[in-house]
Amino acid sequence: MKKGCFVTFEGIDGCGKSTQAKLFAERCGAAGYQVVATREPGGTAIAEKIRSLLIDPAHSEMGSECELLLYLAARAQHLREKIEPAVADGAVVICDRFQDATFAYQGFGRGLPLELLQSLNAFATGGNNPDLTFIIDVPVETAFARMSAMKKKQDRLEAGGETFFRRIREGYLSLAMASPDRIQVIDGTASVEVIAEQVYSQANKCGFFA
Ligand code: ADP
Repeated sequence: MKKGCFVTFEGIDGCGKSTQAKLFAERCGAAGYQVVATREPGGTAIAEKIRSLLIDPAHSEMGSECELLLYLAARAQHLREKIEPAVADGAVVICDRFQDATFAYQGFGRGLPLELLQSLNAFATGGNNPDLTFIIDVPVETAFARMSAMKKKQDRLEAGGETFFRRIREGYLSLAMASPDRIQVIDGTASVEVIAEQVYSQANKCGFFA
């Protein structure tokens, strides 16, 4: 691979995207690629500070507009400080969530207008989209069962409830329909190993490692 590339993993909380992002990073590393694994919101000192504000359950008063702008601020810094330089250096950058999370959560979930989100996102990213995106798709019940098995304390967004997450899941699926060349939907109800295999072979099929 002459030039680096930018791969993102998306899906509702508990779908297994962090597990798959990690396995994909390991597999790319084992195949000899330089890998940078990162996450949104976060990935740099400034963006991690913004993350802690965003996920703090104490901030239940946070409005949708404030939430959106904080996500975009974190993304703008993360992209310029970490992602773009790594891609330019030839790395495979693997990010747990990116712009599709904004469209799914703030657009389909919170009800902010999609066109506005797309134009504000384009400002934050300078129009730099991921090269390839995997949506790990599971029913909301499956995601909730996995999260409760983890006995993880819910963060501010995870506390949104079942209807909220149904809208987000549907939102992700409609984003995939609108960008079939970039977004691959993977059935997240299979075993971790089967999904990892599908992710890797789909990346190859897309001519990704050609
Ligand atoms: P996310 O990053 O999407 O919130 P995680 O990757 O952290 O999800 O996974 C949530 C939980 O579900 C973890 O306990 C993980 O071990 C488990 N998990 C992930 N993928 C699967 C799978 N395919 N089958 C069963 N459990 C899974």
